Amino acid sequence: MSNQVQPIFILPEDTKRITGRDAQRNNIMAAKAVAETVRTTLGPKGMDKMLVDSMGDVIVSNDGVTILEEMQIEHPAAKMIVEVAKTQEDEIGDGTTTAVVLAGELLKNAEDLLDRNIHPTVISKGYRLAAEKVHIILDKLAERINKDDDKLLKQIAITAMTGKGAENAKEILAELIVKAIKEISDEEGKVNLDDIKIEKKVGNGIQDSELIKGIVLDKEKVHSGMPNRVVKARVALLDVPIEIKSTEVEAKISITDPNQLQSFLDKEEEMIRNMVDKIIRSKANVVVSQKGIDDVAQYLLAKNGIYAIRRVKESDMEKLSRATGGKIISNLNELNEKDLGYAGVVEEVKFGDEDMTYVKDCKNPKSVTLLIKGGSKHVVDEVERAVTDAIGDVNAALIDGKVVGGAGSVEIEVAKQLREYSNKLSGREQLAVLAFADAMEVVPRTLAENAGLDPIDMMTNLKSAHEKGGKWMGVDVFRGKVMDSWKEGVIEPLKIKTQAVKSASEVAELILRIDDVIAGGAGNKGGGMPQGMPPGMGGY
Ligand code: ADP
Ligand code: MG
Repeated sequence: MSNQVQPIFILPEDTKRITGRDAQRNNIMAAKAVAETVRTTLGPKGMDKMLVDSMGDVIVSNDGVTILEEMQIEHPAAKMIVEVAKTQEDEIGDGTTTAVVLAGELLKNAEDLLDRNIHPTVISKGYRLAAEKVHIILDKLAERINKDDDKLLKQIAITAMTGKGAENAKEILAELIVKAIKEISDEEGKVNLDDIKIEKKVGNGIQDSELIKGIVLDKEKVHSGMPNRVVKARVALLDVPIEIKSTEVEAKISITDPNQLQSFLDKEEEMIRNMVDKIIRSKANVVVSQKGIDDVAQYLLAKNGIYAIRRVKESDMEKLSRATGGKIISNLNELNEKDLGYAGVVEEVKFGDEDMTYVKDCKNPKSVTLLIKGGSKHVVDEVERAVTDAIGDVNAALIDGKVVGGAGSVEIEVAKQLREYSNKLSGREQLAVLAFADAMEVVPRTLAENAGLDPIDMMTNLKSAHEKGGKWMGVDVFRGKVMDSWKEGVIEPLKIKTQAVKSASEVAELILRIDDVIAGGAGNKGGGMPQGMPPGMGGY
């Protein structure tokens, strides 16, 4: 008998696999790298990132989720961190950087524990305990708000926009945002954020932004012979082209004599006429089409006094459908009077030097447009991101009626109370809970660092302020000292924090529990790297 052991292959030959500590180290490194990237953007003094895509298009942003989405990250563990930002964006709309930075810090601290030979499952369990406790602590810390307290709601909006592209018009925008939300909320105070449409216009300054009741579309009527204004508008919402294009007739025609051509053109015109007739028969006097409208159709619609716009975005079609009560029709044969939407007035209005279509006094009056203006596309885009963050925050605050102080104050207080709680635990779990508490402090520390302050001094001062009972004492990033964030109006919805802690701890636990990365053979890019593991992303 020979002693030689035959190797056994259970995976395809070109499968890449790393196990144990290496797998953990690699995943943690990738996750930390993601967090590190957005860390410098955190807070009012955070810097922006300039992202250039393969087409050369440029985005300048301070918004965590926007940056991460544009970066096209490939490492599997890093992607999981990006998911945290996306969840945060979907659930609240703000706090994406916080969530990612927190996840990175939790993993970084876990790594220290791993180095001390604490088993990942113990860390995981400790983190879960800590996350649950933080939830309770946060809930107790939070202040209840009165839903009619417009001043406070404005402060929440301002906090979200501080240091973003909207900085010098944040007061005006906060006013518009609170007004918009009030406008669309029903008797019970419920809101559907789909009722707020954001339209952007390059030109003028941000402070010229305005809130308009109804829907404003960046579209002008397709034919000058159409009316400028239609009252008692019956609106046909079409998801079907009024033109003969490849979609309608996909046939090759060979023409042998000129008469044939003429008859073909006549036929085409007749088909267009037919389509327009269907619209006229439905008694619509306004047509909003997601698709194109052919020249002949434009002329015919104009002749019949119908106002029409084309190539409207799908999201706007849905908003119009909600606002006017009309149904979006994708087959003209199905168009009938019942499906039309209603608006008191549809008119072409000049905003700046461009014509836009204004749909107002709709059947459902709860729809507003926030028209954002700004000097350039980059500016209006970034203002839009800041405004959507602020809308999400005000909404989140209204939903559960609870808010917390920002500027890192809540994180310091949570860390302090979590440490007190950890005293009741024993041994290794306690270490994990303490590591969690330390991780919470990454927020104030980073706020200080990004403001060019000495983080050690700042943390010492903050902690002593909290020891004295100042639960909302946070970082004054503008004056470089400790401030009462509540008094200064730096206020955030509770939900930003609970969601950030929840997703950050979940992803940290998930990544910690992975001890084996098996990258399938098929599609391996070669170079000894499993797919999606760019060089430099780890020690493969
Ligand atoms: P995120 O994507 O996490 O929302 P931000 O860049 O918007 O990241 O930064 C949010 C952090 O900035 C929060 O911790 C918030 O409390 C803090 N912050 C906002 N306004 C101020 C302010 N005026 N002073 C100090 N900190 C602030
Ligand atoms: Mg924010």
